[in-house]
Amino acid sequence: MTDVVLARKYRPRSFEEMVGQGHVVQALGNALRSRRLHHAYLFTGTRGIGKTTVSRILAKSLNCTGPDGSGGITAQPCGVCQACTEIDADRYIDYIELDAASNRSIDEIRDLIERAAYKPSVGRYKVFMIDEAHQLTKDAFNALLKTLEEPPEYLKFVLATTDPEKMLPTVLSRCLQFNLRPMAPETVHSHLQTVLAAEGIAAEDPALRLIARAARGSMRDALSLTDQAIAFGAGQIAEAGVRAMLGSVDRHHAATLVQALARRDGPTVLATVEQLRQHGLSAAGTLEEMAGLLQQMAVAQVVPEALDSSDPDSAAVQALAAALPPDETQLLYSMALQGRAELSLNSDEYAGLTMVLLRLFAFPSTQASAPAPASAPARALPLQATPREARAVVVTRAAPSAARAAAVAQPLANAPELPPWLDEVIPVEAGAAEAVAAPALADGGPVDAPPVDALPVDAESSLRTALGERWSLLLRPLAAAGAVTAMVRELAWQAEWVAVEPGSDGVKVWRLQVERETLRAAPLRDKLQAALQAAQNRPLLLLVVAGPARDTIARREFEARAADQLRAEQTIQSDPAVVELMAQFRTARIVPGSIRPVADSA
Ligand SMILES: [Zn+2]
Repeated sequence: MTDVVLARKYRPRSFEEMVGQGHVVQALGNALRSRRLHHAYLFTGTRGIGKTTVSRILAKSLNCTGPDGSGGITAQPCGVCQACTEIDADRYIDYIELDAASNRSIDEIRDLIERAAYKPSVGRYKVFMIDEAHQLTKDAFNALLKTLEEPPEYLKFVLATTDPEKMLPTVLSRCLQFNLRPMAPETVHSHLQTVLAAEGIAAEDPALRLIARAARGSMRDALSLTDQAIAFGAGQIAEAGVRAMLGSVDRHHAATLVQALARRDGPTVLATVEQLRQHGLSAAGTLEEMAGLLQQMAVAQVVPEALDSSDPDSAAVQALAAALPPDETQLLYSMALQGRAELSLNSDEYAGLTMVLLRLFAFPSTQASAPAPASAPARALPLQATPREARAVVVTRAAPSAARAAAVAQPLANAPELPPWLDEVIPVEAGAAEAVAAPALADGGPVDAPPVDALPVDAESSLRTALGERWSLLLRPLAAAGAVTAMVRELAWQAEWVAVEPGSDGVKVWRLQVERETLRAAPLRDKLQAALQAAQNRPLLLLVVAGPARDTIARREFEARAADQLRAEQTIQSDPAVVELMAQFRTARIVPGSIRPVADSA
């Protein structure tokens, strides 16, 4: 067992093995059989649905010589000749894959065009595959255009893109376009059953349904998630384990939220969101689960007999359907769907979820019998406002800008138990110079009110672990060397390394916990795993699971900055010249937020 075993092992090697893309397979098969070949193909569709795979099969079809070396162009490449085996092994000299995401400049394209001038070395055709073609620069596109327009007869182009809208129309018009479809969860589900049966691995059916849904139409992601699930469950795939791994939300939470929204019960909505946060359950998954539930409720409201009575969830759906009027069911459904897209705009996905859910409170309830309609949120908000005002007041004296940031960052649901210094509202007198409330830091003595956002959020937040230290020492140089960038770096920075476990074949399983669902995406995990394997020069399996991440590089850096800031403020405030100035001019104040640590302060 090593990285992405299943995805690699079960990558289709012939058109027959391609799952869920029948329309493309049929069209290409017919073209190959009738020798009506185009010189440029464009495969479009989301990631992980087989664009590269179909390109490789096409290249094999064009170059296959059959088991005895006498075969010609075929829709059924033999799989054993030099062309077939070498293309499968990614080392066929006449098949060139270029990833435009990382090789997008004109130089790379010039290099490619130069190579186009030479006839194939061993095959019938040279096949150039440009993946993520929309990422090519405009110059690179233009340089390519002429070759694309009149390629030598031995050259075939395959362009692939997840974003055809960004392709130049002149390029589009020269390509024969095929749209690969995202696979339906049922298709993925049944393929997973086949694969796992072949592997002899036991799997609970609901667990496979969860994986099939989480893969969002990508078979590669589904297989990668299955690999992770096997490692997570020590060789077995159980529903509970997969739920924990995916951070997927069970129906129960979605039902609680819908019920609370039907009652306009703000406190329960906030408490439930807090529970989701505590358990690292996905905010997006919650909205998805809610949308599914609301859709069934709408069916129950209009055509009650359409519900499957053998489904154990049916009774709950019926009860909820009766509790929420049809128009509000519709409204909530569209809020849940649209709210999902908004979540990524908020750096705190749970705060984003709270906003989406509270939106319903902005609409007057149409339900006459609902207890205290619309008054509940009005009651809840002033209650929540008190701690935020108190927090703002405290900070106003030290740094108003930090106060605003703190107030914004403070989710409504938080602060049931306030830190002691936030309990008392301190009156603000303009120009007052006397000492203000002195919150104590864990390791230092009392200091003048530091910016609140520099304080650890809770006692556990500064928990340091040995693995955390190793993670930090391992990843920082990788990021500095550019081996871990962009969202992959973000994943590394927001993850807590919680365990190293033995896997099969002596391969170690490194378990990371990450709170944000977006960072748990399979492609990010795959890239981080590849970078770590390269750095460690040995195979390892990275398991990225949902859960609280306390000792992360991001938090370490944040705490280091906060400590620097604190030291800087103490230095300024105890500076004899500053002390003397403050004594001489009663109204003198340090401009809030103007104290900055300098680089060599350590
Ligand atoms: Zn062959």
